[in-house]
Amino acid sequence: MDTLFKNVRIMQTRPPFEVQENMDVLVQGDKIARIGKDIESKGAKIVNGDGKTLMPGNVCSHHHYYSGLSRGMLINAGPQTDLIQILKEWWWRLDRGLDEEATYYSSLICSLDAIAAGTTSVVDHHASPNYIKGSLSTIAKGMDEVGLRGMTCYEVTDRNRGMAEVEEGVQENVDFATSGTTDMVKAMIGGHALFTIPDEGLKLMSDAVKQTGCGMHIHVAEGEYDQIFSHHKYNKDIVRRLDDFDLLSDNTLLVHGIFLNDDEIDLLNERGCFFAHNPRSNMNNQIGYSDKLPKVKKLIMGTDGCGGNMFEECKIAFFKNRDAKGPFWPNDFVAAMNRGNDLISTYFEGDYGQVKEGFKADLTLLDYHAPTPILPGNAAGHFVWGMSSNSVHSVMINGKMVMENREFPGIDVNKIYSEAAKVAERVWKKVDTLEAR
Ligand SMILES: [Zn+2]
Repeated sequence: MDTLFKNVRIMQTRPPFEVQENMDVLVQGDKIARIGKDIESKGAKIVNGDGKTLMPGNVCSHHHYYSGLSRGMLINAGPQTDLIQILKEWWWRLDRGLDEEATYYSSLICSLDAIAAGTTSVVDHHASPNYIKGSLSTIAKGMDEVGLRGMTCYEVTDRNRGMAEVEEGVQENVDFATSGTTDMVKAMIGGHALFTIPDEGLKLMSDAVKQTGCGMHIHVAEGEYDQIFSHHKYNKDIVRRLDDFDLLSDNTLLVHGIFLNDDEIDLLNERGCFFAHNPRSNMNNQIGYSDKLPKVKKLIMGTDGCGGNMFEECKIAFFKNRDAKGPFWPNDFVAAMNRGNDLISTYFEGDYGQVKEGFKADLTLLDYHAPTPILPGNAAGHFVWGMSSNSVHSVMINGKMVMENREFPGIDVNKIYSEAAKVAERVWKKVDTLEAR
């Protein structure tokens, strides 16, 4: 059914952050068909926008749905004084506890949470070492049922079972990329981090990238250890090691990069790679802050598993940068967040990220009351200082209203959350029995 948004303020979230007052927006099929004043459309569903703000849906360009059931996880854990201990005591125990049901509920609730925060696209990076085969289709099933636009991949690693695990991970990526993707969920080729992928593994991943045409999605230099390990074992920088396996191109997504040097930033820029910044996770893991973010050309924003709320992520990114005496302003972070649409349009047909005629109808309607004028020069300031997930009224993805006035039509949200809590309890008990390794 066509949808007509009547009398909305349109606010773009990419430069030059245009703002238009009192506009009508007609959506036909999955696209924005017309924008103007006093549009009439017989039979279209009318959404009364009086006083509300319509903007492009937010994009979370790096997420871990496997963290969906970890909120408040009660387990006995050993000391976590560095990133490796945090991984071993927490995330690598959690992901070993995930089975099909836990992966499915993680996907459902992460997708619902993202939409409720006005996020219309999520790029997931998945791990469940005791349930590898079929896991990406389970993630996709959850995204599809909720109506989110998503991408996923399996984090190839040797950390539990050596090359056998690497091969299984690569196979899952290839299987999903070649026969598991749907209209709304696409594939990348995932890798955990270079210190858990031997050269034989990178060769397999390089073959997988060539075979599927999908780019690699991998953590790089999240901790200093990753870089030191590469220097110790391979005598080369991390990004150079990836390049030696032809793994860098304009559809590659590199994540974190706190400890990359200037040569590596130059190289990833030269290859056209996307680079996802995840300030909340970086702060939580106490890994430090990169002063090289302004040099990255295709900087995009993720949460690294800290939910799917990009209002919060952009706010925290901005304050962290202020605290570190960085040079960024709100418009830099909001533009980076919106740039995630360039990654989306690399993998999906169509144009994304603007409220413009011909663009895909991935839209967020905010009930946001501004005490000051909203203008191109301060739109990103409103985004960071005023707007929040509390302002999100309705969300449309691919022309379909997936959340309307805070309700999810056709989805029993309470049931999903209560089932998820039961599954979480079961997973926590299991995780509590697993030793750090
Ligand atoms: Zn991550």
